[in-house]
Amino acid sequence: MERTDRICKNESCKNRVEGRVDRVFCSSYCKSDHHARILKQSGRTLFKLEVDSVLKRNRSILAKFNLKSKTTVRKEVLLAEGFNPRVFTHFWKTSKGETYLFCYDQGFKEIKDNFKDKYLLVIWQPAMANQVFGRSHEVALK
Ligand SMILES: [Zn+2]
Repeated sequence: MERTDRICKNESCKNRVEGRVDRVFCSSYCKSDHHARILKQSGRTLFKLEVDSVLKRNRSILAKFNLKSKTTVRKEVLLAEGFNPRVFTHFWKTSKGETYLFCYDQGFKEIKDNFKDKYLLVIWQPAMANQVFGRSHEVALK
């Protein structure tokens, strides 16, 4: 069998691989370490994809109900649509200390209205940019 200079395929290893040409790892440790890293990375990628997809769904549900830029919706109605209030992009506080959670440009806050659980829906305003991004909206868009 021909012997060539090869470097171990494990990202955290610089050892030369000896032996058969089809060997790509210097040791069985490096082989399992490499595969464990790939599994871990794909788990993180899946998590990010899931968050992205929940955010998009949340945003489209909020936008569907908030046609007038400010409105209230029964909590159970939004939840039945598949809205997940635990997943959001950022928050914004009013001067009274009330916190709105946002999925991109669509904001929501839990309220009680006539003893019913509701969400108050708002839409992102350029004036909120300074608090959230620490700079003006004009700058944020560039
Ligand atoms: Zn190695």
